[in-house]
Amino acid sequence: MPGASTRVAVALGSNSGDRLANLRFGAESLVGLFSEFRCSRVFETEPRYVYNQARFLNACCTGRTDISAEELLGVMQQIERRAGRRHGGLRYGPRPLDLDLLLHGDQVIADPHLTVPHPRMRDRGFVLIPLAELASDWPVPGLPGSPVPTIGELAAAVSAEGVVLTRHELPCG
Ligand code: AMP
Repeated sequence: MPGASTRVAVALGSNSGDRLANLRFGAESLVGLFSEFRCSRVFETEPRYVYNQARFLNACCTGRTDISAEELLGVMQQIERRAGRRHGGLRYGPRPLDLDLLLHGDQVIADPHLTVPHPRMRDRGFVLIPLAELASDWPVPGLPGSPVPTIGELAAAVSAEGVVLTRHELPCG
């Protein structure tokens, strides 16, 4: 997608099956949708919200695209299903692949079906720490107060407990 205009960030996570293969599948499925596609390093993280489940592998990707946020979410959900994800299970429970749309340019969307910036990203070390490797100076719109915080500032403020760097790499890392 040469010349694409909108900067986009996506979070990837997996805690069932072959977790690394699932993350790689996610990144390989996204790459054709973006120009300037980049992947963070891979982190192993303690589960949040539902604790008695396997640890996750998490990473983030960034790129540029002209695909709308709504259309991108639909494509991401198709990729999740192709990785074996079945929707309707336990919320925050085990999943082969989770793809979250974190940022789509400076858009602020407040629909339960699609909320951008992703509503829980500001509290999640497992999102902000990998994302800061790629997009430290990106502003995060839609938060109260001013000036608008950057990813790097949010990452510096979040707890890094339970977020451990691995030696794994994604194809675009
Ligand atoms: P999860 O179980 O965390 O993958 O949540 C999936 C649900 O969150 C779906 O119904 C999506 O429509 C909704 N959702 C809302 N905002 C977003 C977003 N920014 N990225 C991904 N899913 C979202």
